[in-house]
Amino acid sequence: MLNLKDFLGYVADRNPNEPEFLQAVTEVVEDLIPHINKFHPDYAQQKILERIVEPERVITFRVTWLDDNNTVQVNRGYRVQMNSAIGPYKGGLRFSPTVNISILKFLAFEQVFKNSLTGLPIGGGKGGSDFDPKGKSDFEIMRFCQSFMTELYRHIGAETDVPAGDIGVGSREIGYLFGQYKRIQNNFTGVLTGKGIQWGGSYIRPEATGYGLLYFVSSIFDCNNDNLAGKVITISGAGNVAYYAAEKAIILGAKVITLSNSSGTLYDIEGFTLEKLAHLATLGRDIDRFVDKYKSAVFLKQQTPWHLPCDIALPCATQNELNENDAQQLIDNGCICVAEGANMPSTNEAIKLFLKAKIAYAPGKAANAGGVAVSGLEMSQNAIGQQWSIDKVDTRLKAIMHNIHKSCIRYGKEECGYINYLKGANIGGFIKVAEAMKAQGVV
Ligand code: NDP
Repeated sequence: MLNLKDFLGYVADRNPNEPEFLQAVTEVVEDLIPHINKFHPDYAQQKILERIVEPERVITFRVTWLDDNNTVQVNRGYRVQMNSAIGPYKGGLRFSPTVNISILKFLAFEQVFKNSLTGLPIGGGKGGSDFDPKGKSDFEIMRFCQSFMTELYRHIGAETDVPAGDIGVGSREIGYLFGQYKRIQNNFTGVLTGKGIQWGGSYIRPEATGYGLLYFVSSIFDCNNDNLAGKVITISGAGNVAYYAAEKAIILGAKVITLSNSSGTLYDIEGFTLEKLAHLATLGRDIDRFVDKYKSAVFLKQQTPWHLPCDIALPCATQNELNENDAQQLIDNGCICVAEGANMPSTNEAIKLFLKAKIAYAPGKAANAGGVAVSGLEMSQNAIGQQWSIDKVDTRLKAIMHNIHKSCIRYGKEECGYINYLKGANIGGFIKVAEAMKAQGVV
């Protein structure tokens, strides 16, 4: 019999100074251990949990590059190849000064379950660097990406490990990384996803995480014979995920009242429109300048959106951006659904409050899986040398999000009828990986 406290002690001892990794493991094994003890003693005997928390491989490397003043700069690069039981490692690259091994291991760990939930044959990984892209020139970004890939290339491949973007890594960076990979290997292959549409990318990939999040939220409301028309939504972040989440929410008839970034929250009491979003996209990181044009909006400096009354909250910025106090305020203000576009944006204490209040809480590993799902579809298109239409990719994305929702219900429906999406996603994502690990022997 597995014991939760003993197991968490074991993980903490083996991974000192990795609070985010421990947080992600705790959130998952709290659901898995009772399930394994009740239904799968064979997993305990095979040490599936001990194996699944140990990355198959962690690579760290030096990234040196010259800035525009010809000064030598030194950063650290990483790739965490967490689990390849059901397919090649797959997961984004993050460029941010906050990157460290704890954060990348938590992201890689979450990715294993998320990728499994998509139903596609992809394992889990994550990587990146402590490089800060903010304020860097285009040439500096290019030189950094080239230097990063000059080491990373030997560890990845279309059938080994297929990185994609994440915070600080968008289509520009993927372009520079891909160009360097191709130059070194002399091989045009689907080694990265999120590529440009003219050179092997998939339609809908930029939109996929945000759109997929809204497809998932729609499934939650469908279950209750409701829909998103007129629902008030608060969103954090103003990057890739937040932007397309807002766009799809508006298209579905909801009223989006906030977007945010690390300097504060943009609150438009009348709600954003597609036209307002298009204007916001021209402002880059200076989202506070939005209020110069639209007088219905105010910029709340250094505030998050969570104190504002809403029906649905969509944290789409970063990890641990929504704490216990925020959760209590959301619940007190009548919020009925929290769905995560970001990875692990809610602290474990916040999650406990959502579950206790029995509001619909959709964890990132289920609700934001649309991005990696379309990355998986990009890999399929590359493998057969095709490019599918917008409609075909969007239809597949909708179906995948719908199926993830079904998996969550299958494993997360409680006797009282409440759907514990967290439990559903944790168990639903785990079983397939565990079965594959068992079948492949002790490796
Ligand atoms: P982007 O780099 O495009 O955008 C990140 C946004 O979050 C920016 O607006 C940034 O503001 C804001 N942000 C970052 N840190 C903070 C902070 N501490 N407080 C407030 N705002 C902050 O990243 P993505 O949109 O791609 O990723 C956002 C989240 O979604 C991440 O957790 C990522 O792992 C997750 N995710 C992304 C996927 C994708 O396909 N891109 C797929 C699945 C999950 P600022 O510019 O001021 O830093």
